[in-house]
Amino acid sequence: MRLHRGLAATAAAVTAVATGLGLGAVASADPTTTPNGPWVEDSQHVSLERLHTYDELTRELRKLERRSQGQLELSSIGTTNEGRDIWQAELGTGPTKVLYVTQQHGDEPLTTEAALATVKQLGTSKASWVRDILDEITLRVIVRANPDGTERYQRQNVDPDCSGQYCEPGVGYDMNRFHDPAVDPEDNPVPESAAVQAMFRDWRPDITVDYHHQGSYVADDGSLITTSVMWPLNPEVDPAVVDASKQVAVTAYDSISAYGHGEVSQYPGSTIPGIARNSFGLQGSASLLVEFRGGIGQKSSGYLMRQGYVAMMAIAQAAADGTLADVDPARADDIPPRGPYVPGEEATE
Ligand SMILES: [Zn+2]
Repeated sequence: MRLHRGLAATAAAVTAVATGLGLGAVASADPTTTPNGPWVEDSQHVSLERLHTYDELTRELRKLERRSQGQLELSSIGTTNEGRDIWQAELGTGPTKVLYVTQQHGDEPLTTEAALATVKQLGTSKASWVRDILDEITLRVIVRANPDGTERYQRQNVDPDCSGQYCEPGVGYDMNRFHDPAVDPEDNPVPESAAVQAMFRDWRPDITVDYHHQGSYVADDGSLITTSVMWPLNPEVDPAVVDASKQVAVTAYDSISAYGHGEVSQYPGSTIPGIARNSFGLQGSASLLVEFRGGIGQKSSGYLMRQGYVAMMAIAQAAADGTLADVDPARADDIPPRGPYVPGEEATE
């Protein structure tokens, strides 16, 4: 199934949206603090020009690493069936380990654009508030976990000879079903999932957030859902880990709701241990799924990228300044359920 055709936006269209939203504003000299920034004001660092191809993404990440003067470290956590690197950007030196993963599904591109903006902000800014974050956390961002699928704008990785469950014959595997902690990375038929799992096992992040797109849904009052979130639902996940995950969910909810026109709901997820959200939770990490709206055409691309960026920055900030630990996890249960589907195209995490 082909998803989110409308997100294959041209450079010109996205630029027009970004300009229309006033995102070219200059930075505030003396920014305010949470929940909405300083990052919202510091928008000259946010790149919304267009979607990046693999080669463009690679060039951009290398450029940012050079500009960062050691603040950003780029590495490859593995290679795909077609030989592309799976890039990881590492920022900060703090004791709390945070992992973001984007675009396990190749046709869910704005998650990667939001991550690039985050990496650019945290990797190249010398502002004191950025330094404060990077002193307290170490953030790893797997920027586009499925580069082969992205080049074809398809959900699956590229493995035409795939077989069995979660294989689309002649196409490839859905990599977000191959994170089961019971399967060793060396036995994993999906190299992209194996690379993520091997890194995870070695590094043991405290907090993980996996970013996707879904189709369009409405809330009870008829407004469009902009984002859905969910924590691990597998029954074997430690209840303390579920609570820690709900604290991340509330942080995402608050930041997006405060940003404006944000309509956040719970995502009706499954219990499958091979889904990253459940797998990370089973392995003891606070874990959140974030689903941007999708299937929307070009008009809202800039806004959705921006909202993803706001959530990424808010979670990093809350992990760094300790406010994450003060969040009441029970508030996550008050996030409204997702409303009905808007006919068009449907996607799952
Ligand atoms: Zn997805």
